[in-house]
Amino acid sequence: MGVPSIYQITRAGSGTVQDLHETAITFAENQFALKGQVPFLWLIDTGEDILWMETPWENESEKDASIKILRVVLRETNARAYAQMVEAWVATETYDPKNPKKEFVPPSERAKDARDDVLMVTSYDADGKMLMTRYLVTVRNHGPNFLGPRVDIGSDEGLFEGRMFGLLKDKRCPACREAVGHKPNCVAEMIAKVFTAR
Ligand SMILES: [Zn+2]
Repeated sequence: MGVPSIYQITRAGSGTVQDLHETAITFAENQFALKGQVPFLWLIDTGEDILWMETPWENESEKDASIKILRVVLRETNARAYAQMVEAWVATETYDPKNPKKEFVPPSERAKDARDDVLMVTSYDADGKMLMTRYLVTVRNHGPNFLGPRVDIGSDEGLFEGRMFGLLKDKRCPACREAVGHKPNCVAEMIAKVFTAR
């Protein structure tokens, strides 16, 4: 099962989302040069440290559980910002007027020439500022995959909606729903202690 775990802990930088984003970018580019891939990582800037968490989810229920745990850790550490790096398949869906009810085929189920492999690095701060960088990845059967040039996509938050985005916005506990602190015996509070204990 893909359970979140701590990958490493490094010293926090200036605390700006730009600074955290560049930390993630430098790591991703170096890892790609060395290994042709990066782990699925989140960088949580707690003010003192950057907590690097790996979330190797393999299905939807593991994804839900991992994001809940991340939200708890972000909240308990009073995180200033977080960054996320993930490699994914993407595909362009075109509207076909002859076939308006065409079923959406996920990129992972499409032919290799009908999808692209990309590395996305996305960073947010508590004010809702967002930075996003995308790389096209050339998949090689022999030798490590190749990371293409960096493309900064900008910071229009409205473009990107979903469970993985903007996790600092909702201040409520994902388990007990308290806005500040926790209800007694909240499971989220116990989980957070595992990841934030020193
Ligand atoms: Zn709670």
